Amino acid sequence: MNTHHSGIGMTSQRTRVRMIERLRAQGINDEVVLAAMNAVPRHVFVEETLANRAYDDVALPINFGQTISNPFVVARMSELLRAGSNLGRVLEIGTGCGYQTAVLAQLAQEVYSIERIGPLLTRTRTRLREFRFSNVRLKHADGLLGLSEVAPFDGIIMTAATTHVPLSLLEQLAVGGRMVFPKGSQEQYLCVIERNSQGYAETILDEARFVPMLSGIVGN
Ligand code: SAH
Repeated sequence: MNTHHSGIGMTSQRTRVRMIERLRAQGINDEVVLAAMNAVPRHVFVEETLANRAYDDVALPINFGQTISNPFVVARMSELLRAGSNLGRVLEIGTGCGYQTAVLAQLAQEVYSIERIGPLLTRTRTRLREFRFSNVRLKHADGLLGLSEVAPFDGIIMTAATTHVPLSLLEQLAVGGRMVFPKGSQEQYLCVIERNSQGYAETILDEARFVPMLSGIVGN
């Protein structure tokens, strides 16, 4: 796997192990998620000047006013999405720097990820190409519209906050599928919506802090 910023390559392997131990101590107990996060070098997803903080439990800026979610949040959302079983097709809304995408690539058979900021996605595309994932597709679009041409999804994960999920997106969830996202605007909570044969069931969990989901696209 890619270990860019080679100067800190060795250090990062050790720091990554420490990050995994910390996540375990913070209550993440899905070993599949922990193994996936151990496999992805998080420092290649942040600017070189911030690489030494990549494994700290903090959100960091990734340009275009966006942030890479902190490791705990990535682990928690991945754990909620998996809910103990392997995932088939997954949709991620808000590719950002692609770290969560790379983690999902280890957890799901197919990952579709949508980002609305064109120039941000272009960089992320270059970065992810080096990983040679054969199961990841990126798309520049408004994620709130979903991806009806490849639906249904076993999992949908949003990495930006919204107060309301459009019905058209909920309908792209497979029966038995799960959506995980930060719900709210000023005050936010992680929310899980499960689709069953009867309809949808919503569960509100941990307090969260994400950038807002915006509609429309930027760049071309
Ligand atoms: N998981 C990403 C999180 C980035 S922040 C990471 O760790 O890097 C959230 C991202 O969602 C931003 O890149 C933002 O541009 C994107 N976003 C916000 N609204 C969106 C929308 N409607 N469609 C697609 N992406 C969106």
